Parts: sequence; structure tokens; C-alpha cells
Amino acid sequence: MKILVATEKPFAKKAVDGIRKIVEDAGYELALLEKYTDKGQLLEAVADVDALIVRSDKVTAEVIAAAKNLKIVVRAGAGYDNVDLAAASARGIVVMNTPGQNSNAVAELALAMMIFMSRNRFTPGTGTELQGKTLGIHAYGNVGRLVGRKGKALGMNVVAYDPFIADGAVFEADGVKKVASVEELYRVSDFLSLHIPATAQTKGSIGYDLMMSMPKGATLVNTARKEVIDEEGVVRAMTEREDLKYITDIAAGNQAELDEKFGKRVFATAKKMGAETAEANVNAGLAAANQIVDFLKNGNTRFQVNK
Ligand code: NAD
Repeated sequence: MKILVATEKPFAKKAVDGIRKIVEDAGYELALLEKYTDKGQLLEAVADVDALIVRSDKVTAEVIAAAKNLKIVVRAGAGYDNVDLAAASARGIVVMNTPGQNSNAVAELALAMMIFMSRNRFTPGTGTELQGKTLGIHAYGNVGRLVGRKGKALGMNVVAYDPFIADGAVFEADGVKKVASVEELYRVSDFLSLHIPATAQTKGSIGYDLMMSMPKGATLVNTARKEVIDEEGVVRAMTEREDLKYITDIAAGNQAELDEKFGKRVFATAKKMGAETAEANVNAGLAAANQIVDFLKNGNTRFQVNK
């Protein structure tokens, strides 16, 4: 079996070494195509491979058609819109992502953004502390749980809302209080950390009413998706309430307007950087290799996204 790592933007050497070890220990062959500059190189490289690991590389219908032996594609990372799922499914090719591998990176950024904002964006002036404040976690998945645990370690009172986790023990194990509604969550949260996925139900769902219900001096922290924000609603709430703050890892469509109107009360990272750590990149590569070996040897499809 031949496994190809095709990365226009290569993994760190540490990740490649780790991937090689996992693949060769399993008795398979590793091929590398790094920093390729045209599609032709990729089409040629995939011709005889059984499995493919990519990062943001485009796995189009053309690439899939050229890969006659391909059985599995793993996107090392969370998003997989760079892979043509329909073309893969039509050929019975399994597509996976590597969820959770960058969760700690995102969680650390969320906490860092809270501290940054509560200390006047590291400019002179009297700030406030996180200890003793209530941290609300909206969606208690991979990232939300890590933010919750780290918030507890900082002495915060942590509450969470996730309607899809029925088992209260998940929250209890972290010493986190589960609240019954999204309205209650925002009403009590001095810091609200957003971790909902962008779905038909969540898109545009965070806006005026929820922000207006937050306690005095509250901060909304977004490391999720910009689509979940009702941007006009945020502008209205922040205009009416001069104590509210908004900090985001995903610049809003109207970020320039937010910056101009609200100055130091808003902040967006220069470029989405939640997952941008050396550790997250290595973790995702190793997870991709492990998932491929587990699929080829044992048929494990746990992380398949085109079921
Ligand atoms: P996850 O799938 O582990 O968890 C998502 C959670 O959301 C689940 O527990 C689910 O039950 C819950 N949920 C779904 N719909 C909900 C709703 N309507 N209300 C409340 N909860 C709901 O995902 P994750 O890995 O924790 O990632 C969370 C978000 O972070 C995703 O939207 C992802 O796009 C984003 N993310 C951002 C970066 C970044 O670089 N900033 C990196 C990775 C992930």
C-alpha cells in the first residue's frame, strides 16, 4: 500500500517524520509531494496511491479520477471543503478529517483573547481580572470543554449550554454548571465564549437580543465562525451599550465599521489564527496517518465525513 502526503504548504519536519514512522511501522510505503506548483504534479503523484493525506490542497474530481487505486483521503485539519466529496463518494472513496487535533490551540487563543480584552488590549489603563468572573461556554464540544477546564483553572465560575449533550456527567466531571437555555447562558456570562458550528439553526443567531441581555461590562469572544454572528445586531447592541466588548478570531464582514465605531471595545485577529500552532499542525498530520492505517487494517471509519 502506498500513502501519499501531498502538501503545497508542507508539514513541519517533525510531523513528516512522525507520519513516516506510523506508515512504515504499518508496513506501508510513504510518498511525499511537497511545495508542488502545478496541478499536473499532483495528478501524476496520485496515479498509483492507495491513500492520500492533504492539508488545504484541492482534491478535485480531476484529482480523484487520476487516482485509480485511491481508497481514502484524509484532510489533516477540521474543514474539508477542499475535497470534492461527491466525486469521492461516487467512487466509494472514504474521506475523513481529523477533528479535535487543533482544539487546544483554539482554546488557548480564546482565553488569551479574554485576558487581552480585559487588560485594555495591553495598553495603559486599569483592567479587570478573569478570576471570579462567570465564563459562559456556548457549545460544549472539543474546544468548548478545553476552554471550560482552563477557565476553571483560572478561578472562573464556568457555565455551559449544549442542547445536544444530554449526559449531565460530561459537565459535572469538569465542575461546570449546565444551564437550561441559551438565554440563561448569556444573561449570566461576563465572558461568553462561542463554540457552535455554523448550521442552518445557528447562522446569524448571535446578535442584539443575546448581547443586550449580558451583564455589565461583558465580552463576547468568537473563535467559532463569523456566519453565526448577526453583525448588524452586534453593532446595534454595542451602540446602545457602551460597556459591551467583542473580540473575534474571524474578522466580521463589517469589521472596518466595528473598528471605527467601537475602537478599543472590539478586536479581530489579523488573520484567523486559532489553529495556527506548531503543535496543532503536527497533531493533525499524525492523526491523519493513524486514521489511514486504522482504516486500511481494521476498516475503522469513525472520522469519515462522506458516510
Ligand atoms: P465540536 O464538533 O467538537 O463541538 C461542537 C459542539 O456544538 C457539539 O458539542 C454540539 O453538540 C454543539 N452544538 C451544535 N449545534 C448547537 C447549537 N445549536 N447550540 C449549542 N450547541 C450546539 O466542534 P469543535 O471542534 O469544538 O469546534 C467548535 C467550533 O470552532 C467550530 O465551529 C469550528 O468551526 C470552530 N473552529 C475554529 C477554529 C479557528 O481557527 N478559530 C479552529 C477549529 C475550529
